[in-house]
Amino acid sequence: MPELPEVETIRMQLEKYILGARIKKLEIRNKKYNLDPKHIIGQKIIGIRRFAKQLSIDLYNNYSIMIHVKMTGQLIYRGPKLKINNLSKKVIGGLDGKHTHVVFHLDNGDLYYNDVRQFGWIKIVNSEKILSDKHAPEPLKDLTLEYFSSLLSKSKRNIKVLLMDQSKIGGIGNIYANDALWLAKINPKRSSNLLNNQETKLLFDSIEKVLKSGLKFGGSSESSFVTPDGKEGEYQNHTLVYGHQGELCKYCKKTKFEKFFLGGRGTYWCKLCQI
Ligand SMILES: [Zn+2]
Repeated sequence: MPELPEVETIRMQLEKYILGARIKKLEIRNKKYNLDPKHIIGQKIIGIRRFAKQLSIDLYNNYSIMIHVKMTGQLIYRGPKLKINNLSKKVIGGLDGKHTHVVFHLDNGDLYYNDVRQFGWIKIVNSEKILSDKHAPEPLKDLTLEYFSSLLSKSKRNIKVLLMDQSKIGGIGNIYANDALWLAKINPKRSSNLLNNQETKLLFDSIEKVLKSGLKFGGSSESSFVTPDGKEGEYQNHTLVYGHQGELCKYCKKTKFEKFFLGGRGTYWCKLCQI
């Protein structure tokens, strides 16, 4: 599932391609995405925001189109600002294809919403409601070390499971949780409240490091993530521990990374370094 760096990469590209455009027509191809065009037709796009893994396309009339791509949702733009037509093979069915469920026709091109598994959602909401909704603090934004320390000290859950709890911290998913814990040399199964101050600070910094690295490489496309220009991210070629089971640990160079399941999610670690 796309995490903070992937959704932020989508946001930055949408800003580049559709900010200032006007919505001319809404085409719904799948009744599951039952959107009322009344508040969006003729409206100008004045902002693109991200709240953890959710995107908000803000309109001049104070309404916003909220989108969560979940597992396999893809937002792809085509228009004069983007003439290349070579799409990633991860755009299954192509454009527009059998997995294209919604098309926003703009005055400078088209924005397609594709989703193979259809877990993603799109809603039209009042922009002010988004701000009044409670959002968990996010790394690289408003997550402070003080909040992070206090959160950890109050929880006996496995640290990795806590890091991925979107109601407590926004934007960290499985790939970056795995990499941050290896970087900080912390066992993913540790009880959160048993991390000392030094470990907590190290983990906090490691989270920022791996997310920044994810952003630098345009996100991870190990599953179905593509950016609005129809290309893939590259972080999957730069992960630290995620997906590296059987390979020698780069810290100790003695033990091979192992994989197990924690909270139902693939967990990768070095049993020698991560204590
Ligand atoms: Zn090691």
